[in-house]
Amino acid sequence: MAKLDLGVATAFLAIFLGTDPIVVGATEEQRTYWLRRIADEGLIVAYAVTEPLAGSELSAIRTRAERVMENGEIKGYKINGTKQFISNGGYAQLYTVLAMAPDGPTFFAVEQGTPGLVPGKHENKLGIRSSNTSPVTFEDVYLPKENLLGGVEGKGLIHAQSVFGFTRLMVAAFGLGGGVAAMLRAIRYARERVQAGSPLAEKPGYMDKLIVPHVVRLEAARALIEETAHRLDQGEPELQTEGAIVKLFATEAGNAAADAAFRRTAATATPGSTRSRRSGETCASPRSTRARARSCSGRCRGIVGASICRTTASTTRRSPLHSKPCTASTRMWGLTRRPWQ
Ligand SMILES: Cc1cc2nc3c(=O)[nH]c(=O)nc-3n(C[C@H](O)[C@H](O)[C@H](O)COP(=O)(O)OP(=O)(O)OC[C@H]3O[C@@H](n4cnc5c(N)ncnc54)[C@H](O)[C@@H]3O)c2cc1C
Repeated sequence: MAKLDLGVATAFLAIFLGTDPIVVGATEEQRTYWLRRIADEGLIVAYAVTEPLAGSELSAIRTRAERVMENGEIKGYKINGTKQFISNGGYAQLYTVLAMAPDGPTFFAVEQGTPGLVPGKHENKLGIRSSNTSPVTFEDVYLPKENLLGGVEGKGLIHAQSVFGFTRLMVAAFGLGGGVAAMLRAIRYARERVQAGSPLAEKPGYMDKLIVPHVVRLEAARALIEETAHRLDQGEPELQTEGAIVKLFATEAGNAAADAAFRRTAATATPGSTRSRRSGETCASPRSTRARARSCSGRCRGIVGASICRTTASTTRRSPLHSKPCTASTRMWGLTRRPWQ
């Protein structure tokens, strides 16, 4: 998805991210209630944690959840504060909100339309622009105690921390997808652009120095992502550090590839060019992806000496060199032959 558009991928990531405090922290009854509604009603979910004074340091949140008492018992909570940079923040139908309750940071479920919940203006971002990012303000938002996820105050940071393994992995996949899309454009340009009597793709200095190293790094990132995903799928807990490593490696590889692709396409990468803006930012259009898929037929030959056939990001089929028929899956690099051939 990130290969097609990082913004759309971010919107979906935010739905999963917003659902995570329910998955890992809610009571069985709450989980059944909310997950059923998210699935049945297709709710757009947002994860509302970051604040103007609390970014990396979640414990610094200022949003407060005051207890509302009745006959000496907790009846509900009143939420006050402001969140910022919230993906889907302007449109979400359900927010999972981290607020400071008397016993510590705690996640609450807040539905769209709850009085006092005010989504703010969309941020005009430099990149991933198709994803909505907004502040969200809570002004005396009253919630019944049933909306406290897990039923016990003070567990919010544990819940946030416990999903970092796989949420970091998702961001790593964004780096990979964006980098791959940018490289594919640079490769296509290198084949089409003739200079000094031959396409750039036939010039070893161009391909070996400017394209292949990025492809190698992106493939290494993919291998790391797949390995970490496999370990998570096996139920291995506490992979937060591994998630951080793969996120760093893959996003650095993706950024470097996008930057290189931007410069590789030279004058077409000037600000007025839609084509280059898209390549620098993320990606190829669905149409061009389909076109690449169509152009892929016959036998699969890969890049840098290894034949690569792929189905999805998570399912990989590596065939011996030139041995397996290549289906639409070869669209990974869009190559039916080596880029310099
Ligand atoms: C597109 C986008 C979508 C987002 N979506 C959401 C969302 O849906 N929900 C949500 O809650 N938040 C969201 N965020 C916010 C995101 O989680 C924060 O940007 C992130 O937590 C970092 O916080 P910050 O931007 O305040 O940076 P800061 O915490 O101010 O950090 C600034 C820099 O300092 C570094 N730094 C911070 N602390 C230390 C330290 N102790 N030692 C050394 N270096 C340090 C950081 O690595 C960073 O480079 C989104 C952000 C973006 C850009």
